[in-house]
Amino acid sequence: MLVNVSDKMISVQLPDGSVREVPRGTTAFDVATSISPRLAAAVVVARIRPLTGATAGTATEEEGSEASMYGADAGGERLVDLAAPLTEDVALELLKESDEAALKVVRHSAAHVMATAILELFPETKLGHGPATDAGFFYDVYRETPFTEDDLASIEKRMAEVVARDEKFVREEESREKGLTDYSAQGEFMKVYFIEKFTKLGEEISLYKNGNFTDFCRGPHVPSTGRVKAFKVMSIAGAYWLGDEKNQQLQRIYGTAFFNAKDLDAHFKRLEEIKARDHRVLGKQLDLFSIQEVAGSGLIFWHPKGGLIRKTMEDWMRDECIRRGYEMVYTPHIMRRDLWKISGHEGFYSQNMYPPMELDDAEYRLKPMNCPGHILIYKNSPKSYRDLPVRYAELGNVYRYERSGTMHGLLRVRGFTQDDAHIFCMPSQIEDEVAACVEFAESVLKTFGFAEFKVELSTWDPKDRKSYVGSDENWEMASGSLKKVLDLKGIPFKTIPGEAAFYGPKIDIKLVDVLGRLWQLSTVQFDFNLPARFELEYKGEDGENHRPVMVHRALYGSVERFFGVLIEHYAGAFPVWLAPVQIGLVPISEKHLDYANAVKAKLEAAGLRVELDARNEKMNAKIREFTLQKVPFVLIMGDKEAASEAVSVRTRGKGDEGSVSLAEFIERAKGLVEGRGIGL
Ligand SMILES: [Zn+2]
Ligand SMILES: [Zn+2]
Repeated sequence: MLVNVSDKMISVQLPDGSVREVPRGTTAFDVATSISPRLAAAVVVARIRPLTGATAGTATEEEGSEASMYGADAGGERLVDLAAPLTEDVALELLKESDEAALKVVRHSAAHVMATAILELFPETKLGHGPATDAGFFYDVYRETPFTEDDLASIEKRMAEVVARDEKFVREEESREKGLTDYSAQGEFMKVYFIEKFTKLGEEISLYKNGNFTDFCRGPHVPSTGRVKAFKVMSIAGAYWLGDEKNQQLQRIYGTAFFNAKDLDAHFKRLEEIKARDHRVLGKQLDLFSIQEVAGSGLIFWHPKGGLIRKTMEDWMRDECIRRGYEMVYTPHIMRRDLWKISGHEGFYSQNMYPPMELDDAEYRLKPMNCPGHILIYKNSPKSYRDLPVRYAELGNVYRYERSGTMHGLLRVRGFTQDDAHIFCMPSQIEDEVAACVEFAESVLKTFGFAEFKVELSTWDPKDRKSYVGSDENWEMASGSLKKVLDLKGIPFKTIPGEAAFYGPKIDIKLVDVLGRLWQLSTVQFDFNLPARFELEYKGEDGENHRPVMVHRALYGSVERFFGVLIEHYAGAFPVWLAPVQIGLVPISEKHLDYANAVKAKLEAAGLRVELDARNEKMNAKIREFTLQKVPFVLIMGDKEAASEAVSVRTRGKGDEGSVSLAEFIERAKGLVEGRGIGL
């Protein structure tokens, strides 16, 4: 530990390990300047970590939370303004534009710039708070008159002026009492609330000024408004103050900011791309599914084309389950309330369940999970060690309550289908079973065209013993086997201690889609709770009764959600094996209809999914229609093709590929379907 003898000097340790002795009060900017003026110009913000034990530690508040914006410095590692005087021995990192944390700082600074512009143009506006987000920033404001699109445009224009003025962000401190008095006098009810909530009596509060604008904020910010180089005011949405509809209606103005125009452009291209892939839009355009207001929100209607894709997904899954030693089962959608009491769902899960239904003999509830059903099948006959492992799989429909207004297409629904399985085995079989689950999950991702995935291992916190059921031994064994399997397979993973469910550790597999977005789908989850609650047993080799280990696992997760992700991943252009219509047939004129029908019959006999456009329309209109429907192959047939038993092939993404014999085409298409190619 570095401790200075002189209290006038402090030690600043740089990332390369070198240590500089500088006068107390030196700023990070001074340090940067002393290294090189170029560095000083490039650096955005500083990260410090005290080197003395007394204040070391890591700030625990969630980044971007209100507490992190307003509360007192937690000590520990933190970001500070370049202009902040260093007052103790610290490890110092100078963050440049390439650093993700620096991007958040420029975005939050852009929120100050936006607030400056808003108050210059609309001085009656009251300010809430303006944090950085993953995609940009927002500022919550209160103004009786709603802002219009034109207002947003003028705010953005004024922001450019604030940036051009290159005003320094200057930190000042004053007493909490003065802050409260001043803000109250100005009617800034939200600032008053934040000061009262996040600071304590007798504390100093920090204010940041740029030009004539002052904001209550903990910082840090970029050195001056001129550093906010590329930004855009995006949109506006309503929000109630403190989320309570009895309170004032706030206006949340969203913007985004980047370090340069190139990154900003790339961001907008990505947004366009995300919009073009929106599964709700494509679902309608390609007639895959719908959600019908008359039936209720969050409930999915699979149309014939979506249904065909679902059937293909389900067939693949069932075949794979059987090939991998699972047995398919079916369990009821409603079951007696008493069962949910035994399983414990009545207690810890009831807020996610639909209310009970009173029938003549008892109360029933819709199932939110399939596990108790599979357990009842297991329990229905005595099991011995020779029967294990028992692997039950079901594409089980479950119903979970989601608050109205929170549903989102196929991604967040009230009824869905889990590709659920439960494995009951002996402790000695655990590793093989987990390894097989992980392999199965990899196979799902690969088959459906996802090359990349991320794995998280959620384990318990042994210090928080009372929050978990199951013996220490169980936890060690289960977490150890999950970890061992990942290690053996060479799969990189992140361990998250304390993130396990109370009933056991788990592996989560998040796939990465074509836009780099992460989706949580597959889970392999241990359970020490249900086998005990249901008193599950098997007779061991020793003739004694033992409790089996239970694993829940779902690979698609939810068939609906997985389908939603597939639609967006492929932008609706499904690979041939999944495409609801694989081949579109276009006879050039009516006199080629007979030949087209013969081709259709042959393709169908080969097991291919075909649609013949027999309308009296122009050839190009028919081709366009199939293209819009993202059909992988369009076959065009005229005199030449009819005479030689050939077809002229147009391939999605490639265009006209010329004539081939029908037999040759059938071989190619069949090969793509059987090989489940993802290229086309
Ligand atoms: Zn701020
Ligand atoms: Zn389960």
